[in-house]
Amino acid sequence: MTTLRLEKLAHSYKANPAGPQDYALKEINQIWQTGGAYALLGPSGCGKTTLLNILSGLVTPSQGRVYFDDRDVTELPTEKRNIAQVFQFPVIYDTMTVRENLAFPLKNRGMDATFIKTRVDEIASLLDLTRDLDRRAKGLTADAKQKISLGRGLVRPDVAAVLFDEPLTVIDPQLKWELRSKLKEIHRKLAVTMIYVTHDQTEALTFADKVVVMSEGEVVQIGTPEELFEKPAHRFVGHFIGSPGMNFLPCVIEGTKAQIGQFAVELSAAYAATAQANIEMGIRPDFVTLSAPGKGFPIQIDRIDDLGRNRIAHVRLAGHKLAVTVPPSLDTSRSEMTIAFESSRIGIFADGKRLEPQSRGGA
Ligand code: ADP
Ligand code: MG
Repeated sequence: MTTLRLEKLAHSYKANPAGPQDYALKEINQIWQTGGAYALLGPSGCGKTTLLNILSGLVTPSQGRVYFDDRDVTELPTEKRNIAQVFQFPVIYDTMTVRENLAFPLKNRGMDATFIKTRVDEIASLLDLTRDLDRRAKGLTADAKQKISLGRGLVRPDVAAVLFDEPLTVIDPQLKWELRSKLKEIHRKLAVTMIYVTHDQTEALTFADKVVVMSEGEVVQIGTPEELFEKPAHRFVGHFIGSPGMNFLPCVIEGTKAQIGQFAVELSAAYAATAQANIEMGIRPDFVTLSAPGKGFPIQIDRIDDLGRNRIAHVRLAGHKLAVTVPPSLDTSRSEMTIAFESSRIGIFADGKRLEPQSRGGA
């Protein structure tokens, strides 16, 4: 069991980086606890693969150190790091059977045949590959081949961590849904550190206990799925997590009130918001109540999207757009309705960063 630690790590693919824009990964300090289930979540190009490849040794960082426990592994090649990595596309031997493919990483390390058989059977059963064990990989579907890749990543019992880089990319939607929760279950059973890279929030939130959210080469927040949902530290996180994401409304803070146009929204705490910063009130669609005219702030409904599970109304308050979850039985045939905000669920953001309240408001 190993703790992975990044110290003042940064990476530029350029030999002579001129400024922050030349860094694929800006300075990061991070500890990955033994046995944790982590996700690295962020849009394409934000530096996820770079970070993962630095952990596995495929990329040597241009700055900072990588430690496995107290051992500095920054310059060590992949083979010397005791790391398993699963990529977007299957990496398997077509001419071998599924069993031989799964056994390969163990055989390679000279493990004993009885152990290999037991372990391969166990991993095959976790991934639902038992039926295919004696078939050649060649004839199998892309889905099955990627499952073999996952199995090869999971089969070694002694690894410091298993790294997954968008491993469900080639998997069809139905199976993707199954594998997503399966990986979580596998993490619980195997109790090994897993770091899962994805741009898909559902995959990240289903799998991980801790999600590392990245944007433009920077870690913007590390938190449990709940923390990211309830208390996004940054506008980017509020927006990126949730569908639709958090609403942000420009406002002026006066003690325990947020003034949006002519409307004063009651907050659950006072904030010291400076006039220089761009101040916004953030609230998720779930915590805005839409109701009949006369009950709250008047809004116009632009459109209502029926998402099957729920309905989302896109409305305007004092000219600002926001998305609101529609209560199941509400009649929305009128275009003019009202909304109310759940004070305790409001966050205040200055230049995109969440502000801590100054004091609790109210009585
Ligand atoms: P992600 O996995 O989040 O999509 P990457 O880590 O692949 O992001 O890429 C981060 C940034 O680094 C991108 O701007 C990408 O173009 C750049 N990049 C990635 N790999 C290389 C490379 N081998 N050489 C030069 N630039 C690269
Ligand atoms: Mg990538």
